[in-house]
Amino acid sequence: MAKPLHFVLVPLLAQGHMIPTMDLARLIAGRDGACVTVVLTPVTAARNRAVLEHARRAGLAVDVAELEFPGPALGLPEGCESHDTVRGGDFTLFNEAVRLLAGPFEAYLRRLPRRPDCIVADTCNPWTADVARRLGIPRFVFHCPSAFFLLAVRNVAKHGVHDRVAGDFEPFEIPDFPVRAVANRATSLGFFQWPGLEKDRRDTLDAEATADGFVVNTCAAFEGAFVQGYAEALGRKVWAVGPLCLLDSDAETTAGRGSRSAVDAGRLVSWLDEKPLQSVLYVSFGSMARLFPPQVAELAAGLESSNRPFIWVAKEADDLDDGFDERADDLDDGFDERVAGRGLVIRGWAPQMTILSHPSVGGFLSHCGWNSTLESLSHGVPLLTWPDFADQFLNETLVVDVLGAGVRVGVTVPITHKLLNPDAPAILVGRDEIKRALTELMDEGALIRARAKELATMAKKAMAEGGSSDRDLGEMLRHVGELAQRTEKGVPATSWRA
Ligand code: UDP
Repeated sequence: MAKPLHFVLVPLLAQGHMIPTMDLARLIAGRDGACVTVVLTPVTAARNRAVLEHARRAGLAVDVAELEFPGPALGLPEGCESHDTVRGGDFTLFNEAVRLLAGPFEAYLRRLPRRPDCIVADTCNPWTADVARRLGIPRFVFHCPSAFFLLAVRNVAKHGVHDRVAGDFEPFEIPDFPVRAVANRATSLGFFQWPGLEKDRRDTLDAEATADGFVVNTCAAFEGAFVQGYAEALGRKVWAVGPLCLLDSDAETTAGRGSRSAVDAGRLVSWLDEKPLQSVLYVSFGSMARLFPPQVAELAAGLESSNRPFIWVAKEADDLDDGFDERADDLDDGFDERVAGRGLVIRGWAPQMTILSHPSVGGFLSHCGWNSTLESLSHGVPLLTWPDFADQFLNETLVVDVLGAGVRVGVTVPITHKLLNPDAPAILVGRDEIKRALTELMDEGALIRARAKELATMAKKAMAEGGSSDRDLGEMLRHVGELAQRTEKGVPATSWRA
């Protein structure tokens, strides 16, 4: 009998990438007796312990390989092992420390009694490519953003569009795209598009060019045309195996996801139980993005004047000198009192999936991080879109213009713009616009809500047995099985060279 396949998953050390990677680990381990090891560091392993233990109790062969993080040797503070804890100026150092994991990673793989059958590495971990090549292990790239974003930035780069436009905000149509979509340079930047990260960008593209396949956290119902377009552009296999968040359907997995919740999930659910169906607006900007203090005040005023129930996840005060300095403390003293009963401010990590899966939640004011977008749509919750940077503006276009499941708040400038242009305004959207968008979604958004519900049904079908994502997962595993058989026969395993 063939040995069970062994996958080694290497996430980017950022919440928005580790969470779907842990889900992917559980998804793969749930099929055909495959076993999965996720490569983490001590701090990030501790954050994911609850999910890991849950997987083990469910009888899944998911394990963690803990590699010491070399950050302190480079001058990073102890414990700084994940993007959300990196100070702005330290990002280059952090990336350098991550690259240094290549040595311990290779040593770990060499110590194993049997070479793993496949490495699935986040696209932001191009340093895994050389290790995989040296050991002759097939390597897939795991993409955490949407296929819409992946295809858009690829086509924009291929046609040299950014070099032709006059400025950051000159609109252009995305070339060779399945739908008409308009973007500008500021809102269509790929990853690692920041001064000082040129090497990371080049390495990422090189590692993608030699990958044996691509795994994307999405499904055909949301993005079929874009997944197909991306596969054709690459000339490679692309498997859409999501939305992975749908694996987290019980109270235990949703509450322990990503980090320890700052609030008691049970009390939160009781609070939500008292609110009318679909009446609560959930507000969160993900694990990293923060607002400038004057913007915090505008959002607070918009929420207060809306007279509606809401849950707002505000970042805890911290001393990260990274230019983004939203602090829950910036809310004026009386705010909590004035909104008492109908408004809840969570300071720190929120159990987002617990909130989004509650029937009282009727809208999500989101920064459009891809995980948040998937989590919202998978639960039939329409979005109020407030993108900050990176892939988020393109995700907004997908949600509002293509899927018809959201309303724009009206942000047109990435928050990162101010970091490079200190004179740019700190308020990107005012209280009246916020209130207007909120009313449009919560009071007048019946069609949009119906569309979100329809998408949720389609997402669940995709993940169920025989659905498109389930079939893609099966094909991905079969492909790895074939590569493993070739290795046993002494044929080079890497499919891209075949
Ligand atoms: N998240 C959470 N609680 C929080 C903040 C974030 O559970 O208080 C989770 C959220 O459910 C999602 C991830 O963290 O799975 C954030 O990923 P996303 O792609 O939405 O945004 P990013 O943080 O990468 O900008």
